[in-house]
Amino acid sequence: MRRTERDEHERSTTASNAKHRTVLGVDLNVDGSLAVTSTGEFIGNADEMNHRRREFEKTRGSMQQTGTRSAHLSIQSMDDREHRWMRDELHRASNLILDEARDHGCTHVAFENLTDIRDRMAGAKRFHAWAFRRLYEYVEYKAEMLDIEVKQVSPAYTSRRCSKCGFTHEKNRRSKHQFVCQKCDYELNADYNASKNIARKLLKRLCSGQTSSSGGAPCQCALTSGTLNLNGEFIASVDSTAEGESTDKPTTSVVGH
Ligand SMILES: [Zn+2]
Repeated sequence: MRRTERDEHERSTTASNAKHRTVLGVDLNVDGSLAVTSTGEFIGNADEMNHRRREFEKTRGSMQQTGTRSAHLSIQSMDDREHRWMRDELHRASNLILDEARDHGCTHVAFENLTDIRDRMAGAKRFHAWAFRRLYEYVEYKAEMLDIEVKQVSPAYTSRRCSKCGFTHEKNRRSKHQFVCQKCDYELNADYNASKNIARKLLKRLCSGQTSSSGGAPCQCALTSGTLNLNGEFIASVDSTAEGESTDKPTTSVVGH
């Protein structure tokens, strides 16, 4: 972005402070689905990425042992092919994330902070950090053209906090992909739960200082069948009746946590 465009962009961002904000939360994973959104979309296949990566490394390892020039060239072309495949996957995932953001009228997309992924995610490898970074960059780049902002939030407690009642405890996470709140019994996919907390974190940051209940512009998270504001008020989207009863409906105890 040229300097003048950036200035213009920043001015318009500041000017839009009074406008509504809707945040799409995205949780990234080293297995299962690559990305899970606060609207309940499960995007990409991290297991397949891992599988291909392992196969690639196995073949490369045995080729390297032969040490010939032709083996070296084969590794090179295999490497290129693998990179292309991975990039295509990440492009596809980034498009699906932005489709979700657009479909739900989101002004922002929230990711967890991407630094130190290997420290906080069990089983994360260097290529995961690379893939997450790439995915983030693709989303950020494409979002700019849609006038959607992409931000990172601290990952602290996003996997332990109940997105319905706010109760935060490590035992809430029953298994890798299952979340059961020890207080309100809310049960859902753990990554989906995390993505809603990620959305809420950015929402809190964006809307701090804004009077959210009266007179202020709406500030909300995009969820499967509607939106949730910081006061814990749930607004069902028009087509939510088609999806049956919402499980996103929060209690008012969300407030202040
Ligand atoms: Zn709960």
